Amino acid sequence: MIVFKKVSDLQTYLQQANQKVGFIPTMGALHAGHISLLQQAKTDGCLTVCSVFVNPTQFNDRDDFLKYPTSLDADMLLLSEAACDVLFLPDEAEIYPDGYQQVRAYDFGALEQVLEGAHRPGHFRGVGQVVGRLLEVVQPHRLYMGRKDYQQCLIVEKLLEQMGLSQDIQLIKCDTVREPDGLAMSSRNLRLSEPERALAGLLYQCLVSIKTKNGLAPFRVVQRECLDLLTAKGFEPEYVSLATPDNLEELQEYPDQQPAVALIAARIGGVRLIDNIAVAPES
Ligand code: AMP
Repeated sequence: MIVFKKVSDLQTYLQQANQKVGFIPTMGALHAGHISLLQQAKTDGCLTVCSVFVNPTQFNDRDDFLKYPTSLDADMLLLSEAACDVLFLPDEAEIYPDGYQQVRAYDFGALEQVLEGAHRPGHFRGVGQVVGRLLEVVQPHRLYMGRKDYQQCLIVEKLLEQMGLSQDIQLIKCDTVREPDGLAMSSRNLRLSEPERALAGLLYQCLVSIKTKNGLAPFRVVQRECLDLLTAKGFEPEYVSLATPDNLEELQEYPDQQPAVALIAARIGGVRLIDNIAVAPES
């Protein structure tokens, strides 16, 4: 695995390599979820470029930024064991050479106002800034992202449209990798205490109950059950929602014969966790 810290060095290398590039942007503290994206890019025959950059502009909560886990040595080991070709490790000056203010900010309309956007003001502006800049730098053919961050995938689709890159860069959305109890793998799981970790699988259980009760109970009732259960177990739920898959318009009820997505965000201790599940039409 070759490591680059400078944009110019990375670009020179990629120009010479002249191969189809599969790009996996991350914020480090890597786990099997991240590695699954890398493996998909390898299966697709790409030269794999993984970036590790904890982007300050997407954290609306300074404490969350300061506490974001870092484990660069372990990350490098995982990536080289998984045969990643290139690791891009920029510092802030490489990503934002003229400061944050000079980077183009994108407008994602209603999509950035709901769910994660509503609870983390400015978050998706920051995501747009950093992904936009990374795409300019890496110029990949394929971009690999996790469905775990469902809304982020939709935001990045819009970003590609606004950058005029939808034809040049294919966004590959990869399935969520889970722990045995169903908890979606996340760098933030490292911050859970043992008792918090033991409870955290409840988020996925709630999602599964929303999915399986389609056609058996009104969504409002299932939503209330989930909120009450989470609260009783010591979580602070931010939302338990059902939405349209394409633009995340919130639904008050299970849709008739249409797919939907159930999304959840809750804090446990000081840690904020998110997850989602596809809800198939009632059969
Ligand atoms: P992050 O480092 O959290 O910014 O995540 C980098 C990429 O990995 C994003 O596209 C995430 O959606 C994806 N990712 C994070 N966790 C998982 C997971 N459990 N399964 C699949 N992809 C994931």
